[in-house]
Amino acid sequence: MLDIKWIRNNQEEVQTVADRKGIAISISQLVEVDDARRRLQQDIDELRQERNQTIQEINLSIYSSEEKDVEQKKLHMKEINQRIASLETEQRAVQAEYADLMQVVPNIVSPDTPIGKSDQDNVEVRRVGEPPGFGFEIKDHVKLGELHQMINIPRGVKTAGSRNYYLTGAGAALHRAVQQLALDLLMARGFTLLEVPLMVRKEALFNTGFFPLGEEQTYRIDGGDKYLVGTSEVPLISFYDNEIVDVSKPIRLAAASTCFRSEVGSAGKDVHGLYRVHQFSKVEQVIICEDSIEASERMLQEITQNAEDLLQQLELPYRVMAVCTGDMSQKTYKQFDIETWMPSRQAYGETHSSSNLLDFQARRSNIRYRDAQGKLRFCHTLNNTAVASPRILIPLLETHQEEDGSIRIPEALRKYMNGMKKLQL
Ligand code: AMP
Repeated sequence: MLDIKWIRNNQEEVQTVADRKGIAISISQLVEVDDARRRLQQDIDELRQERNQTIQEINLSIYSSEEKDVEQKKLHMKEINQRIASLETEQRAVQAEYADLMQVVPNIVSPDTPIGKSDQDNVEVRRVGEPPGFGFEIKDHVKLGELHQMINIPRGVKTAGSRNYYLTGAGAALHRAVQQLALDLLMARGFTLLEVPLMVRKEALFNTGFFPLGEEQTYRIDGGDKYLVGTSEVPLISFYDNEIVDVSKPIRLAAASTCFRSEVGSAGKDVHGLYRVHQFSKVEQVIICEDSIEASERMLQEITQNAEDLLQQLELPYRVMAVCTGDMSQKTYKQFDIETWMPSRQAYGETHSSSNLLDFQARRSNIRYRDAQGKLRFCHTLNNTAVASPRILIPLLETHQEEDGSIRIPEALRKYMNGMKKLQL
C-alpha cells in the first residue's frame, strides 16, 4: 500500500506504474473519492462542533431564556443529529469505496526495472554455467522418473486430478534432500527457521498483498474464512502483523512449506510433467529490514545470492533475469527471476523469484520499527525462493543423467541421500 498523500502528489507516476503492470485502476478516480471522503469528514466535524455549541447554549438558556427559545434550540440539535447520521451513512460507503481502490494501487517500481509487457521482455543480467552437451539422446524427467520409479503422474491424477503427482522412493528422498540442503544453507547464514500455519485468515492474504488481485489463485477452505497458502511468505510476514519490530539487524526468516495454487488461467500451459502443479513444496526466505533503499537493495542481492549458491551446489546452469514491469506483481518494487537450464525444454525455466517490496507490504501489515530518533517507520520486506520442488527436480534429474539412464547425485546432496553417489537403473 502506498501513502495516500504520496499518491496525491505523484498521481501521474502511480497511474503509469498501474498501466505498465496491467492493473486496472484510475488514480484520478481514487483522488476524487479521497476528496469526497475528506469533504465528508470536514462536514461531519463542523456539524459536531455546531452540536457542541448548541448543547452549551441550551444548558445556559435553561436558566435565562424563554421556554420557546430552548425548544427551538432543541429542534435545531435534532436536525443536526439527523444530518450527521445521514453524512455518516454516506461516509461509510465512500470509505469502503476508498479502501477497495487503495487495495489495488500498485507499488512503484525501481528506476532500473525494464519496461515491458510479459516475461518475454525480461532482461538477462548474468548467466552462470554452461548448458550441458550430452552426446546421446536424453530422456526428460517424466521418463527418468518412470524408469527409476521416482515420479508417478498417472497415479497422482487418479487420486487428485490433473496437475497432481506422487514422488516415490528416491524421488521423494531427493525432494526432501534439496529442501534440507536449502534450509541448512539458510540457517548457516543467520536465517531463523519457522514451521508456519498453512491455512490462514483472509486478512493475512490482504495484508501481504496477495488479495484482492490474486484471490482466484488461492484455494478457499469450504465452510470457513480460511485459505490455503500459495507460499509461506504469507505466514512468515504475518508473524509480525501489527507489531513494532527490532531491525537493528535485519530479520531473516525461512520456512519449508507446502504451497497450494489453483493455477487458474494456465489451462493448457506447461501441462507436461512436474513444471506446473497444484501442490508443491518451497523453502522460502523472507527479510524484514529498515526503510532504506540502499539497505533493502543489499538484502535483495543477498537473498538472490543465496539461491544462486544453492544452484551452484546442485551443479545446475542458470541465468538471472531482471523482471519487467508487465511480469511483476502489484506489490513488487524490484524483482529478479532465476531460470535454470532444463535440458528437455532446451530452454531456461523459472525456478526462483526474488523481490524487494520496499514498505508496501509492511504498510498493509502495519509492521513498524523505531529509527535512531525514536520515530516509528514502516519496514522494508523482501522474499525469495531458496528452492521449490518438484520443479527443481526437472533440471536436477535431466542435467545429471548419463547415457545408461543412471543419474549422478551432486556432491552437496549426497549426505542427505545416505551417501549415494548415483541412482542406478
Ligand atoms: P512464486 O512464489 O510464484 O514467485 O514462485 C516461486 C517458485 O515456486 C517458482 O519459481 C517455481 O520454482 C515454484 N512454483 C511456482 N508455482 C508453481 C507451480 N504451480 N508448480 C510448481 N512449482 C511452482
